[in-house]
Amino acid sequence: MALKNSYLIDLMKTVESRNPNDKQFLITVRSVLESIEPVVEARPELIEKGVLEMFVEPERVIKFRVPWVDDAGKVHVNRGYRVQSNSAIGPYKGGLRLHPSVTEDIVKFLAFEQTLKNSLTTLPIGGGKGGSDFDPKGKSDMEVMRFCQSFMTELYRHIGPDTDVPAGDIGVGGREIGYLYGQYKRLTGDYCGVLTGKGLTFGGSLARTEATGYGLCYFTEEMLNAAGKSFKGTTVVISGSGNVAIYANEKATQLGAKVVAMSDSNGYIYDPDGIDLACVKQIKEVKRGRIKEYVDSHPNATYTEGCSGIWSVKCDIALPCATQNEISLESANTLIANGCWCVSEGANMPTVMDGIEAFQKAGVLFGPAKAANAGGVATSALEMSQNSQRLSWTFDEVDAKLKQIMVGIYHNVADAAKKYGCEGNFEAGANIAGFLKVADAMLAQGVV
Ligand code: NDP
Repeated sequence: MALKNSYLIDLMKTVESRNPNDKQFLITVRSVLESIEPVVEARPELIEKGVLEMFVEPERVIKFRVPWVDDAGKVHVNRGYRVQSNSAIGPYKGGLRLHPSVTEDIVKFLAFEQTLKNSLTTLPIGGGKGGSDFDPKGKSDMEVMRFCQSFMTELYRHIGPDTDVPAGDIGVGGREIGYLYGQYKRLTGDYCGVLTGKGLTFGGSLARTEATGYGLCYFTEEMLNAAGKSFKGTTVVISGSGNVAIYANEKATQLGAKVVAMSDSNGYIYDPDGIDLACVKQIKEVKRGRIKEYVDSHPNATYTEGCSGIWSVKCDIALPCATQNEISLESANTLIANGCWCVSEGANMPTVMDGIEAFQKAGVLFGPAKAANAGGVATSALEMSQNSQRLSWTFDEVDAKLKQIMVGIYHNVADAAKKYGCEGNFEAGANIAGFLKVADAMLAQGVV
């Protein structure tokens, strides 16, 4: 698909000239503008009032030095980021990522996507994202703590329970959120819901850990049901073995699927008997080990070095849950050739644009990330509500709300796609439905 509307073509040229080095951000903005073209044509006031120009420019990009000292006394300096993309519908909300691949481009693209995703949840949260090129892998707990304290020593002045509420993402789980929260409290003296994904003893929500993976499966099951199918009796491949992948496996299995492969950034395991999730949890959540250790206790399983090979494993449903661009066009074609008929994204932007087009051409049911993985941030917003109320809801209460939100997202996305002439294209439907709410709020608030 290419942009046809002359106003949007010019707008895209401006975005390109302003962000010449931000490849991933440009890909994302272009893809969203392509999807919302019919909305822009039907709503000329969006052009007249400058809503699009404001929408493609983050409200704020914060970049800072993060110095810390390792266990041997050596000083290291990393870079920290927080991109506050859009606050039209609520305080900025979005995760913090700790991974060597983190750059301003990556954080900016994730914050832009987050704005649309958060809008889809129906909850009052704007879009933001942050992180650092620090690699927590192989670091001691004390090193991670010193890094987190240094990171928060700058970040704290830009966030707050009613301004910006960060959460976890790749490399940021319960341990990191705990250290970040401790330092925020020490610097400000405030005991408030400034971060989500907190431990249950200090304001965390039950079901937040499970939320993204479970939510992915609730969304996917609804999409499958609408097509007269379900998870029951299917063979599923899930990339990654982190937070999203583990709980996607748990829920898909509860819904009757057999998950046969999982991975980490070194390679993938294939177990024809179905992955033993308790073993994966022990390796990844308890020991912080590598996925290849799985085959030591499962003789029928095999380990293959290199993570992209996982897409050659035959399956009905693929749930990419590791990272961006992990399904190349080649991997997409391999999945299609092997009979895969549904792909639903747990990670953010795991499929390259050509891959998405290949799935759509082949009639593969495709659940786009910003809709399918919105369960994590939705439950984070439920954590914010509980913190404001000074109450804790039960696991079942939170899980029921999560399910209701994910089912609602599917229908909102499917209806928007139909209304704007692209029925069945949930990628376009998610962009349109997410954008409409943000655009209406921006219109109402004027030039700000
Ligand atoms: P984790 O850090 O818990 O797990 C990430 C997993 O992906 C690990 O198994 C990791 O392997 C693997 N991985 C990381 N980089 C690569 C790579 N370049 N190639 C292959 N595998 C890789 O992160 P999450 O599970 O939290 O996040 C996974 C994805 O889901 C991300 O895209 C994130 O943005 C998205 N997401 C997460 C949400 C959440 O609530 N956590 C909410 C919505 C989206 P290794 O152990 O080797 O690093």
